[in-house]
Amino acid sequence: MNGCLFCKIAAGEIPSTKVYEDEKFYSFLDINPQAKVHALIIPREHYADMAELSKKDPALAGKMLKTACLVAEQLGLKNGFRLITNTGADARQSVRHTHVHILGGEELSDRMG
Ligand code: AMP
Ligand code: ZN
Repeated sequence: MNGCLFCKIAAGEIPSTKVYEDEKFYSFLDINPQAKVHALIIPREHYADMAELSKKDPALAGKMLKTACLVAEQLGLKNGFRLITNTGADARQSVRHTHVHILGGEELSDRMG
């Protein structure tokens, strides 16, 4: 999608620190980490948020979760990890290309919101 930051990152037009990629997904380190390990995974195809993706292509949404867990394993998060998908304004989603945050590498806060 024209002008979308994460479409540009997936296409390699804006630099990022890649941690994983395949035909459908691209994963990279968050520029402003909220935990010792903080990566993002995005579908290469543009969907504004998880509500849209899960309606239009539920199989891809499921595959995204599976791939997020694979990335967590590759990042060495043996002791656990947290997946977060901010969806819409109340969740403070700031980039309107759906993404799953992969957080870990330390004991995370009890608070989730
Ligand atoms: P959200 O607030 O859930 O939409 O998350 C967007 C995330 O994208 C934030 O954690 C940002 O730090 C991250 N972010 C924004 N721009 C970049 C970038 N150029 N490279 C890597 N991460 C980014
Ligand atoms: Zn996009």
